[in-house]
Amino acid sequence: MDIKRNILLNPGPATTTDSVKMAQVVPDICPREKEFAGMMKGIREDLVKIVHGDLEKYTAVLFCGSGTLCLDVCVNSLLPEGKRILIVNNGSYSTRAVEIAQYYGLPHIDLRFAYDEMIDLERVRATLDENPDIAVVYTTHNETGSGILNPVRELGRMAHEHGAIMIADTTSTYAMRPIDIEKDNIDFCMASAQKGIMAMTGLSYVIGDRSIIEKSATYPKRSYYCNLFLQYDYFEKTGEMHFTPPVQTIYSVKQALAEYFLEGEEAKWARHTEVMQAIHDGAQALGLKEIIPLENQAGLVACILYPVDENWSFEKVHDYCYERGFTIYPGKISSTNTFRLCALGAITAEDIREFWKVFEEALRANDIAIPVKY
Ligand SMILES: *Cc1c(COP(=O)(O)O)cnc(C)c1O
Repeated sequence: MDIKRNILLNPGPATTTDSVKMAQVVPDICPREKEFAGMMKGIREDLVKIVHGDLEKYTAVLFCGSGTLCLDVCVNSLLPEGKRILIVNNGSYSTRAVEIAQYYGLPHIDLRFAYDEMIDLERVRATLDENPDIAVVYTTHNETGSGILNPVRELGRMAHEHGAIMIADTTSTYAMRPIDIEKDNIDFCMASAQKGIMAMTGLSYVIGDRSIIEKSATYPKRSYYCNLFLQYDYFEKTGEMHFTPPVQTIYSVKQALAEYFLEGEEAKWARHTEVMQAIHDGAQALGLKEIIPLENQAGLVACILYPVDENWSFEKVHDYCYERGFTIYPGKISSTNTFRLCALGAITAEDIREFWKVFEEALRANDIAIPVKY
């Protein structure tokens, strides 16, 4: 089968290999069969291994849904009655966690920083000192809206010093930028199959400390479908998901994990880094400005300011590139007009050099000045 190869520069779903796409085409199977549960056991263990977790201490709990489901699960399941969650928030993905806390009516502190500002750890410490009822600290590792890297390890240490647990939304770093769950002081992290492991959409997972999940059995159950303990407990008792899993996606995940370990953590991160460098180089050559200084970036998302040019049209440039197999993505910062180019997926620096040629043609075709103006 000849499947057209598109280069996705959006922040997930990512470009996948043909072998991962094809892995979904399998004989029909009822996921309640032992064969299927056995496959999920291996997948859960591999997901823990990716963050170097000890399988005795850490587990992976699978859910059927997109990545935001994991934010929902973690926020609604891990907060004891009468305690507060501190959300260290410098962008749109942490704001999503704030909204989840709001919708569940959970006591929370939304500790805000500007989208282009590094987290001020002293402000976080002061907040923890002043609010001994904080039981959970939450942040986003790579704020995918801007590409800024947040200091999860330091936040986790601070949380632990204050008797709180640390949740990190690692959806846009997991299986890309190396993570060591224990050394990075993370109690819970999360991701989704269509991002770092380069599989299909529909499976998401929370990876974290078994003993905390077990303790959370007595916390209020705020959701029926999206409760961490209930799903964990069902897996422990039966090896299965409580409700119907995304069967074909799980086959793609199995293949994607095999390819992940074959490529290797270091080599994969090196490849993403080369892709990102090619993104920076091409942007610079055209005079495009990134909003986050390079030293503060997580190395996976470039957030680029719209040029100031009467002919600039994101839609027109997008459509030109899209028709030629390259997908660029709008920004997520309300105060500034940006677009994003991401280094996820089964792509190489060579793909990015091809992309920039097409992007430059798109500028010419629309009479946009080169180098671009601000
Ligand atoms: C992609 C992403 C998510 C999940 O988004 P979905 O559209 O629900 O898959 C969550 N957090 C971060 C940081 C992400 O990059």
